[in-house]
Amino acid sequence: MAEPLKLAISKGRIFEETLPLLASADIYPREDPKTSRKLVLDTNREDLKLVIIRAADVPTYVEYGAADFGVAGKDVLLEHPGDGLYEPLDLRIAHCRMMVAGKSEMTPRAGHLRIATKYVRSTRRFYAERGEQVEVIKLYGSMELAPLVGLADRIVDLVDTGSTLRANGLVPLEHIADISSRLVINKASMKMRHQPVKKFTRLMAEAVEKLHG
Ligand code: AMP
Repeated sequence: MAEPLKLAISKGRIFEETLPLLASADIYPREDPKTSRKLVLDTNREDLKLVIIRAADVPTYVEYGAADFGVAGKDVLLEHPGDGLYEPLDLRIAHCRMMVAGKSEMTPRAGHLRIATKYVRSTRRFYAERGEQVEVIKLYGSMELAPLVGLADRIVDLVDTGSTLRANGLVPLEHIADISSRLVINKASMKMRHQPVKKFTRLMAEAVEKLHG
């Protein structure tokens, strides 16, 4: 039998919200990453395995062909350089918004605004398109803290219900992008394994229509 196709996916919200789509296509993982430490999970289909990796690594695994497909948040894809992936399908899961946020009242600082974020590329692009010069500070988490302790004037982060911002006395100020998770495909797999890759993509598209159409 041909090598099984590999689907790269991250634990947590994206995995939980992808499960119903897979189930709708009659695909069931044999283990749950919440309880298993295994990083390669079998499914009920011999020709498909799941590879459990960090969300930010999904585009890299897929681009290099270590996985044929992946489920990646648009936030992660916007940060991933290059065009080494196909992105054929919006899975319409894990919705949120990428926003600029800050304190409602801010004393203007002399010089450029300072923005703290994990999303450096998206932030630079957003302000560059508006012709505004800003200083971007890269953080790896807890962006909400930065304006509270004077590290930055604003942050760029994902906002869902807004409760994380509210709890820290911050307000959403500007909308950068609507975010949801996408199916991404390795370009070589699309060429070399066209039939099975197309078939899986079609199954996922049908599942999205059925569940979220
Ligand atoms: P909320 O308090 O509901 O606005 O959620 C905001 C927090 O959840 C932020 O720290 C985000 O990084 C995270 N978050 C919300 N939605 C998503 C998503 N779709 N993908 C990844 N992280 C998210």
